[in-house]
Parts: sequence; structure tokens; C-alpha cells
Amino acid sequence: MGTGHAVVVGGGLAGTLAAGALLGHVETVTLVERDRYPERPAFRKGVPQGRHLHVFLSGGRRALEELFPGLGDELEAAGAHRLEPPRDVLTKSANGWQRRFHEGRHTTTSCTRALFDATVRARVLAEAEKSGTRVEVLQATEAIGLLGGADRVTGVRVRARDAGRAERELPADLVVDASGRGSRAPRWLAELGAPAPREEVVDAGIGYCTQMFRPAEPLDVVMVIQPRPDCPRGAAWSPVEGGNWLLTLSGVRGQHPPTESTEVLGFVESLGEPALYEHLRSCEPVSPAYGFRDTSNRRRHYDAPGGVPEGFLAVSDAACTFNPVYGQGMAVAALSGLALRRCLDDGGLRPGFAAAAQRAVARAGDTAWLTAVGADRPYATAEDATPPGAAERLRSWYVGRLAARAAIDPVVGAAFRDVTYLAAPPSRLLSPAVALRTVLLPKARGLAAPPLRGES
Ligand SMILES: Cc1cc2nc3c(=O)[nH]c(=O)nc-3n(C[C@H](O)[C@H](O)[C@H](O)COP(=O)(O)OP(=O)(O)OC[C@H]3O[C@@H](n4cnc5c(N)ncnc54)[C@H](O)[C@@H]3O)c2cc1C
Repeated sequence: MGTGHAVVVGGGLAGTLAAGALLGHVETVTLVERDRYPERPAFRKGVPQGRHLHVFLSGGRRALEELFPGLGDELEAAGAHRLEPPRDVLTKSANGWQRRFHEGRHTTTSCTRALFDATVRARVLAEAEKSGTRVEVLQATEAIGLLGGADRVTGVRVRARDAGRAERELPADLVVDASGRGSRAPRWLAELGAPAPREEVVDAGIGYCTQMFRPAEPLDVVMVIQPRPDCPRGAAWSPVEGGNWLLTLSGVRGQHPPTESTEVLGFVESLGEPALYEHLRSCEPVSPAYGFRDTSNRRRHYDAPGGVPEGFLAVSDAACTFNPVYGQGMAVAALSGLALRRCLDDGGLRPGFAAAAQRAVARAGDTAWLTAVGADRPYATAEDATPPGAAERLRSWYVGRLAARAAIDPVVGAAFRDVTYLAAPPSRLLSPAVALRTVLLPKARGLAAPPLRGES
């Protein structure tokens, strides 16, 4: 049984998983959440992206299973869909449609964000009961600052969101910032005299729009049409619980999708993919269309030497956000939770823990960062991006060629999926068989039409 007190700021997915990773390693965990959790899975204001399509990639699923065995099955029992790409996911990239066959390497999960978070939260709280760690959840409570000094964070200042708006201090041996993309930790650290982290930004200027539908006759396959230079608009169509499907539309700046539901079908028609358009015409809309605009890749380098004071750790979106079209953030939350658990397994809270954990958490997000930034560079303007170095330019050339071949070549495709589903590091793309096929074979093209029937 561990000692010490950890305060986790933000009870979204990353905060819940961080609390789960701390179980058994500290005496108490206080989870501070600005919202009140709904009684049943439902959208809440603190997770504004929660109305949009959220697919959970296999790399995240594996990390989640390692943290909490059987949780993937629990999600499916609650109504989530289990998808095995490329058989169950039709993907169109810049080079055409991917082949569709049973590969047996990856399992992804599709459901509403509300169901996902509620299922994970229930499991973590159930584990807490057995762990010996006391977990206190402070709902409707907002973190408003940090305690301590430039070298050491010693707690959090919080304010109740009810009428009294009472403030109090929560001393802690470790503060985990899991407050998401709107994290105010850089300002809070500056108030303590600590340096703000260096930020890297690559913004493709993607706008999002999502609407829920109920198909009379559902497809047996998910569809993903990625924005590409000649048509910088995309769509994703995936099932969620309760017989509904989510349609998410995306477009780079100047090509943003509408946020009026009456214009959604027109945008889909403009993609020039009749299979999706005709199918959607037969589906009943069951929600308004919701927009989302802040989609940049943004990394705060808390992992740099001296980047965090002792006692402070930032995880997931609070440290690094990704362009959501690649569907990586939740998987990175799970990988970060696992990285935190492994660091704690190495000797619990100890001097130097925060810096070591911050480096481990940053490594957990490296693959997602490299793939998202590599793919977004062509769309980012000089004002929206830190300029690429020579290594990044070479990487972009290689990955572009590899991605084209991956659509039709099972050897290259397997490596590409391993990395983009965050189940293997980018070095997997450099294995001899993959590199030779990528560089020596002619640049490939994908299929001209979506393979509506899978290969047997
Ligand atoms: C449009 C869109 C679509 C996406 N689609 C996908 C996808 O398909 N697949 C995928 O893996 N990822 C996707 N993502 C990314 C994913 O949503 C995030 O990576 C993920 O939610 C990160 O979890 P988090 O816990 O760090 O942050 P959040 O889920 O945002 O949770 C932050 C929590 O902190 C609380 N909070 C904030 N400030 C305070 C405070 N001061 N005090 C107390 N509590 C506070 C909030 O109320 C909230 O509960 C998408 C993102 C967007 C924007």
C-alpha cells in the first residue's frame, strides 16, 4: 500500500485513468471535477467535444486492457461496437480507397463519448473499492490555481461551483493536471514563478461538424473519407450504441463544414461519394448538427529538462492535443495512464518522480504527435506552425509514399495500421520489408471505388 496524497485536476477520461493508475500506489486520490456527472451516460459541458464521433484506437484499447483487464468487453456489453479494420472500416485517403479484408491485428471501439467515459469511470471507482486507496471525487468543484513555489507544487486551490463559491486548499504530494485542452496550468505555474512550457503548434485549420442519425438499414461497415489536397473535406460514419450512427464532417480552413443540419447532406454530396450520400438520404436525423473549431496539434513541452516543478504532472490533452480527424486523443489518454502506472510500479512517488513520469507520458504520445503533425504539415500555414526541420521534411516524404502503398499492399498496410492505430512505434515503418517496398516499388494508388463487399 502506497503513501501520500494525489490530487487529479479534471475528471474526464485522462483524469479518471490517471486516478486508476494511482490506485494502490498512494493512500488517497482526490479527483477534482468542474462538472457534476450525469446519472446516466450523457453529454456534459466540461467535455465539449463529447458530441463528436470518438473512435478508440487499438493501441489505446490494449493499454486500457493492461490497466483494467476486461474493460473492452464491458464497453461492448454496454453497447459499444467492436470494429476490426480494414475489414470493418472503409477508408479513402489521398490515394484512393483501401482494400478491405480480415487482417486480425486491430480492434477499435465505437460508441458515444458519454458511454465510454461513464463505463471507464464506473470500472475505476469499482477498482478503487478493492485497492486500499481512498478515492474522493469532488464534483462541481473547479481548480483555480496551484500551491507551492517554482521548484515544487504542493497542492491545488479549488472553488466550489455552488452558490457559496467557497474556496479551499488541497495539499498534495502529486498534482496531476488532466483538465483537458483548456488547461490553465501554464498560467498557474507562471503565478508560482515557474517557467511556462515551450509550445509547439501545427494547425491545419480543420473545422468539424457532427450529427446523429438512425439508419433504417445500417451498413455493415464504417466509412472514413479523409480530407486530401485536391478535396480538403472529409467525413466519417460510425455506429454508436442504441442503433444510432454519428456522421462527422471535416474541412480545412475555407472548406469548413456547415453547422446547420439542413446543409449537412449538401456537404456530403460535395464529397463525390455516392455510396455514403445515398445511404445518408435514407437515415433519420436524431440530433442537431454541432460544430467544433479548435482542432490544432499543440504540444506543451513539460517533458523538457526542468520543464515541471517537483510534484506536478500534466497528462493527455492538458499536455498535448491532436487534430481529431486521426482519432488519437483517447488512446493517448490510455497510453499515458499506463505509462504513469509503470512509473509508479518502479518505486512509487519518490524524489524526481514528476520529471520521470512527465517524460514517460510524453513518450506515450510521441507516435500520435509524429503521425498527426506529419499528415497536417501540407495544410498548415507559416503562421499556424512551427517550421519543420530537415528530419521532419524527409519523414513527410517517406510517410506520404508509404501511406499511398499501404492502401493496397498488405505488408506495408499492416505496418501503417500498427503505427496509426498507436499499437507500434514509428520505427515499425522502417523495418526492411516495409522500407524496401515503400522506396523501391512504384508509387501506388488505392482502389477507385469503395469495396462495399469485403475480400474473402
Ligand atoms: C472534435 C473532436 C473529436 C475527437 N475525436 C476523437 C476520436 O475519435 N478518438 C480519440 O481517441 N480522440 C478524439 N478526440 C480527442 C479526445 O476528445 C481527447 O483527447 C480526450 O477527451 C482527452 O481527454 P482528457 O481527459 O485529457 O480531456 P477532456 O475529456 O476534455 O476532460 C477534461 C476534464 O477536465 C474538467 N476540467 C477542466 N478544467 C477544470 C478545472 N479547472 N477544474 C476541474 N475540472 C476541470 C472538464 O470538466 C473535463 O471533465 C477528439 C477531440 C475533438 C476536439
